[in-house]
Amino acid sequence: MKKYLLGFISFTLLAFSSCQRATPRNEKIKGKYVLVIQGGAGVIEKKFMTPEKEKKYHDKLQQVIDSGVLILKRGGSALDAVTKCITLMEDSPLFNAGKGSVFNARGENEMDASIMDGKNLMAGAVANVHTIKNPILAARAVMEHTSHVLLISKGAELFAKKQGLQMEDSSYFFTEKRWKSYLMVKDKKSQGEKHGTVGAVALDKRGNLAAGTSTGGMTYKMYGRVGDSPIIGAGTYADDATCAVSCTGHGEFFIRNVVAFDIGALMKYSGLSLKEAANYLILIKLKKQGGNGGLIAVDRTGHFTMTFNTPGMFRAYATSEGFHGVAMYGDEK
Ligand code: ASP
Repeated sequence: MKKYLLGFISFTLLAFSSCQRATPRNEKIKGKYVLVIQGGAGVIEKKFMTPEKEKKYHDKLQQVIDSGVLILKRGGSALDAVTKCITLMEDSPLFNAGKGSVFNARGENEMDASIMDGKNLMAGAVANVHTIKNPILAARAVMEHTSHVLLISKGAELFAKKQGLQMEDSSYFFTEKRWKSYLMVKDKKSQGEKHGTVGAVALDKRGNLAAGTSTGGMTYKMYGRVGDSPIIGAGTYADDATCAVSCTGHGEFFIRNVVAFDIGALMKYSGLSLKEAANYLILIKLKKQGGNGGLIAVDRTGHFTMTFNTPGMFRAYATSEGFHGVAMYGDEK
């Protein structure tokens, strides 16, 4: 580990000294698209799966990535592809977001979401919402129809309602599986590291990047707790000059390390590649601190990464060059 760190530091210094050459160019890569989605990182291992459950996740991830690709293939925006993918995952009880959200310590669903447009650095987010069917749509509405970035609780819900977004009561968000996890943690039969997120990052044919993230947070979290997912720079970030990032994992660590922003910063100021920046943050920095999780990211040239320090991460990717895949375990490509 020490050797790796030393190597990393010397590489960083070298890269920094050649920063001039590594300065991002302004021209955009056109005609190419990339889409990557994530459905949460954690203890996702074959031994805890049944073939039926595995198939359900696989099919849903495939359906989600296909829907996003359709938008990008037809020349649609990265922002629309990201919004579509996240909406579909929020509607699925398989993931901890929207319909499948976990319960907080009061036995309520409390959701967070954010979205960012790399073209103009516009961003929108909602936190601590209970009644918005698709928090990602509310986040997008904040970005597009207000001069603010983050709305919370009742104010966010009132705004979403006025925007005509679909509202639901608590019975819609209830799932047996999440309730059982809540009771397990409450009865101290489980540690309560139960979390998850959905997210998407995309590069569109015009060379624009976008990222979005949505979550129910962490099981048995304190009432009022907000994680990294709605925090621009921590759980989500997109800048056409560098990359688009969506994080998943123990949110407090991602907030303290400003992970999503730091990926682009390491690329911009230290000349690291996307993969090097993600490996450093997730596999070295966060791991050392005990921060579990991962991220998906795509850079302005179309390189992408799906990096995690947990046993698995639900994920899928597709590019205009024909690369595509769906995976969940650590040893899968
Ligand atoms: N990052 C989310 C949170 O802390 C949870 C997760 O992604 O697993 O709220």
